[in-house]
Order: sequence, then C-alpha cells, then structure tokens
Amino acid sequence: MAGLRFARLIDQFVADLERQGATVFREGLPTGERPARLRVDDRRYIVLLWTITPGGGPPGTRPATERRIQITKVSGLPLEPDARTLVGGWSRESAVYAFWDSRRHVVFSQKSPSFQVDSRTLDQAGSVGLATQNRPTREGPELVVALRPDFLLWYLQAGTNIHNAPEDADAVAGLIANAEEERAFLDSDPSPPVVARRFDLVQVIRAFRHAQFRPTVLRAYSYRCAVCGIALKLVDAAHIVPVAYPGSTDEVTNGLALCRLHHAAYDTGLLGVFPDYRVAVHPDAPDRLRAVRLAAGLDEFTAALPPVIHLPGNAEARPSPAYLRVALEVRGWPPGAV
Ligand SMILES: [Zn+2]
Repeated sequence: MAGLRFARLIDQFVADLERQGATVFREGLPTGERPARLRVDDRRYIVLLWTITPGGGPPGTRPATERRIQITKVSGLPLEPDARTLVGGWSRESAVYAFWDSRRHVVFSQKSPSFQVDSRTLDQAGSVGLATQNRPTREGPELVVALRPDFLLWYLQAGTNIHNAPEDADAVAGLIANAEEERAFLDSDPSPPVVARRFDLVQVIRAFRHAQFRPTVLRAYSYRCAVCGIALKLVDAAHIVPVAYPGSTDEVTNGLALCRLHHAAYDTGLLGVFPDYRVAVHPDAPDRLRAVRLAAGLDEFTAALPPVIHLPGNAEARPSPAYLRVALEVRGWPPGAV
C-alpha cells in the first residue's frame, strides 16, 4: 500500500484541525521533511507522522492484525520545553490516526524502529471515536491512542495526557460509553498515586465526551454558519442553552453552527433565533447601543440577516424549539418577543 507523503499527511492533519475551528500556523518554510512545526491556537507542536501499514516480514511471521509505522529518516524524537511532540500515523483502512508516546522514544534502541498498533484498536476508534491500547515495550508499557479525525483537536488540547495511564488502557472504552463508571473506577484502588492518575484520566475522557459536540454540530450544518452561510474555517459550534445554564446538553439539537460574528451576537443576546427558526435583532438593541455609541453597522448587520436560519438537512439534527425558547429567556429577550 503506497503511503501518503509527509507533506500531504501534514496538509490533511492541518485541515482536520481547521475543520474543528482551530487556528493553525505553520512555522518556517514547508520543506516536506519531518518534523513539521505548527502553532495550533496558542500552543506549539512538533509533528511527526507516517502512514500506518500492515506488519512487515514474510507472511505468517507477524500477527495478521498488526499494523505499524516504520520510523525513517529521524534518529529520535525531539522534545522541547515549550512545544509538544506528537508522533503518529494515519490509517487509511480505518480512517483514524494513532499516536504513540513521544517521551518514550527520545532515543531509538535500533536504527529504524517500527511502532505497532493492533488493527482492532484502529477499528474500534473508527466506530466510537477513540480507543487505546497498552503496548508492552522494553522500557515498560506504552499507551497507544487511536482516534477519528473529528477528535484531533481534543487530542492536542487535552488528550495527550491520556498517555500517562497505560495501566488503565482497558478502562477507557467503559469510561467513554458510560459516565456512571467514573465513580467505581476511581474507588476501586484507593492508593493515592493510582487515584491521582485515574482522576486525570477521568478528566481527559470527560473532555472527550464533550468534544463530540463540536464535530457533530459542524458536520450537521456542513461547516457553514446557520445565519449567513459562510464557511471560511470561521465557524464554531455554539450551545443554544449555554453550558453554564442548568439543563444545557451536548446534544446536536442544543447546537448551532455559527461564524465568529454571529456566535458572539447570539451569545450576547443581540441576535435571537425563535423556536420557528426566524432570526431577529433584540428589540432593545438599537436604543441600548446608540446610548453607548456602539450602534455603528447595526443597520447593515440587521439587513443582512436571513428571515430564517439555514437548517441541517437531517431533521433529527435540527435545533430543539424548546432549547431555542430557553435560550431567548436566558439571554434577556422579553417574554412577548418569543
Ligand atoms: Zn455568520
């Protein structure tokens, strides 16, 4: 199987992050050589990626489910204090990424090592979004993380800490599926270092569960703002009932894909979406904004609004009228306006 060249792997990696709303800058000129240096939002990353392929050697010498990356043209993984080093691979057959623990591979014990992952772990990640595998190495256990491209931004923001818990790899699937398992998982071993490690893992998996909101909402709206229709990598997943409010959920029906302008306008209550999907500017906005000399552009802003929002094609992904009603109340709309 021919692998993607590194430059194309990085292009795909960057595009996957941008689709989730991340701002990505490439540092230095793109040379096509590993590693790539990226700034994603406000953090720096050193990224090494290879294509994941079936195991090497003559037929029958390696397990049929073994997949791996073959490390070439680098002699160890660079670690820098102000950047995070990511070492991973892209599996075309499962459409997932897998990442190894870069801190375990600062120096290679052989010239061109290969890092393995089981194809069942990759397939599991393809179906639920995330899967982990404890990989025994000469230096001790290493946790391999496989994830769908939708969760790449989660991995960069929170997920790299998951590598700290190779002993708990088997618990991850249960924690993803069922938040109620958290308590039993924390209580089953009372020794302080284990509790501390497991507490961190629970936080990471919780962030993963929340991270499903964004890709689900953006995909439902084809990555376009529900109000103005622009894409341009400027679209966020907005909560209709705000996260801090009781009853807020991460269901797609509590989400709207909105560009940065309309997201801010919605969150501050300047812009309202009615339960029948009509769009309007808050009735008090002109007077309030004029009083503080911040009404410039309001007429143009209002004139550019569509009569109703653009809805997802899938009826089940459309915003819940009940959530839209609560959202107007929470954001200070007069009861009569709804
Ligand atoms: Zn917009």
